Amino acid sequence: MAEDAWVDAVRDMLSHVAGECPSEETGCRLAVAACEMGEYMVQKVELNQGLEGAAACEKGCSLCCHAQVPISQPEAELLEAWIAENLTTAVREDILTRISGNMELTHGCSLEERVSVWDQTPCVFLHESVCRVYPARPLVCRAWHSIDRGQCQAAFDARDSDADIDNTPYRNYVLGVVRDELLRLRPWPQGDAVPLPEAMTLCFRKNHL
Ligand code: SF4
Repeated sequence: MAEDAWVDAVRDMLSHVAGECPSEETGCRLAVAACEMGEYMVQKVELNQGLEGAAACEKGCSLCCHAQVPISQPEAELLEAWIAENLTTAVREDILTRISGNMELTHGCSLEERVSVWDQTPCVFLHESVCRVYPARPLVCRAWHSIDRGQCQAAFDARDSDADIDNTPYRNYVLGVVRDELLRLRPWPQGDAVPLPEAMTLCFRKNHL
């Protein structure tokens, strides 16, 4: 599928979803549809190009889960709903503590300052090297991948946020288009994508969690 056709298809499908569901469910439904559509297209393209299974990523490798993940409002709403339905009160409280600790170290900081505390600020959802919200993880987490784990380790050890990490050519693009469309359809009041801890704070506050 040509690039413009993919952008148009995503736009049409998500606009249709947004027009079809009750307003209180729109964010979650949009994020679910976006993830399903994006993953389906990635799978099809990678299969077609003989790239299936090329990524070196596997459960327990969480090096990229120490980077800042920017998310859209629908993704935050999906995470909030998934957490409320699937995680215990104790785990939810642990996550809230992690969010506040992460915000203390990173809120308002430059990228360089954030990178300097990488080892102290793993993702607020990372627990014992495993993602606690994997089925509802953001699009950036679905997009980031590597075909060389050694490069990820070297970049992590060197605190190099600009390191070239070899990857397959389609996943980032396909899922990036989907996330951009979520941002366009339901923008945050402050505009662009919001770092995950801050996004969850806004979402939890709105829903009094
Ligand atoms: S949401 Fe999950 S996959 Fe994404 S950075 Fe956090 S722990 Fe990693």
